Amino acid sequence: MEILDILIIGAGPIGLNCALEAKKNNLNYLIIEKGTIVNSLYNYPLYMKFFSTADKLEIAEIPFISAAPKPGRQEALEYYQGIARQKNINIHLYEKVLKVSKNGKIFEIETSKSKYTAKNVIISTGFYDIPNLMNIPGENLEKVKHYYTEPYPYAKQKIVVIGSSNSSVDAALETYRKGAEVTMIIRNSEISENVKYWVKPDIENRIAEGSIKAHFNAELIEIKEKTVIFKDKKGEIQEIENDFVLAMTGYLPDFDFLKNSGIDLQGECLNPIYNHETMETNIENLYLAGVVCGGKDTHLWFIENSRIHAEMIIRNILST
Ligand code: FAD
Repeated sequence: MEILDILIIGAGPIGLNCALEAKKNNLNYLIIEKGTIVNSLYNYPLYMKFFSTADKLEIAEIPFISAAPKPGRQEALEYYQGIARQKNINIHLYEKVLKVSKNGKIFEIETSKSKYTAKNVIISTGFYDIPNLMNIPGENLEKVKHYYTEPYPYAKQKIVVIGSSNSSVDAALETYRKGAEVTMIIRNSEISENVKYWVKPDIENRIAEGSIKAHFNAELIEIKEKTVIFKDKKGEIQEIENDFVLAMTGYLPDFDFLKNSGIDLQGECLNPIYNHETMETNIENLYLAGVVCGGKDTHLWFIENSRIHAEMIIRNILST
């Protein structure tokens, strides 16, 4: 069996960047991706806008041309998939990596379709596949959505949006503007500071004028077929009519996969252990790249600040 120099798990923007850096340095690499190229972006809300300007999302110094200052999902798909096509990136799609183990100095990688061996492995699996569940009764009902795609299914429906992050706020505003009756249930006392600066006044003004209802310092307790039950800021229990719950409670990296690969996780946020200069984990020649590095703290890393991981990793591989 051929021994690869590097096997990269995940073809997100950062996995692709690792592949480009490996290619530039004539290393024998392969990406294994369980979905399509930039699968997380493919599953983003259809009309989302990045908070980053296009130049900040560029990889390998390939220009990202966007007519608007902040590109949207479709432009990003065109950009990253275009790079994979044009640079002829070596990639296997719709193949999931199930297990990474080490036999002496060589990694053995088992996937849903085959087995591979490699001298180095880069895990760049992101965090968009596992919703951060609320673990409350009724969360498994069909009307509860952890992924929001577009507003049209929710016209004239009673929607509860959980949270006040960018995803929650975008979903609340979009569905409100298509005629949904929107109630936000928010644990904190205000809209998150991380909400895009040009969107924050919009949501705050809609709440202030009463177009969108918001319960701050509140917590959803139970979801029923036709209602939801929550505790309001006074600690009183309220039950309101409801057709759909958009539970925008965030997503988590696949901690089991990281643990089973031998990576130590530490602290409350289950932060994976890695060397911050080389991105190498506690397992020699096993690297982490991209947003997976943050553990539960998924706001720590994004494309802008994790593009650099590719260069750090390949430099270290070349030096050893
Ligand atoms: P991902 O893009 O998540 O890629 C991981 C890939 O690994 C996926 O394709 C997945 O299918 C694959 N995978 C996972 N497990 C396996 C497995 N076992 N086997 C094979 N393949 C696997 N960042 C910015 O810099 N600017 C922004 O404006 C911005 N806006 C954002 C808006 C939204 C709505 C979200 C959710 C995130 C945003 N981010 C932004 C953050 C960042 O863009 C994304 O998290 C980005 O996708 C991270 O890239 P990544 O390559 O690390 O991970």
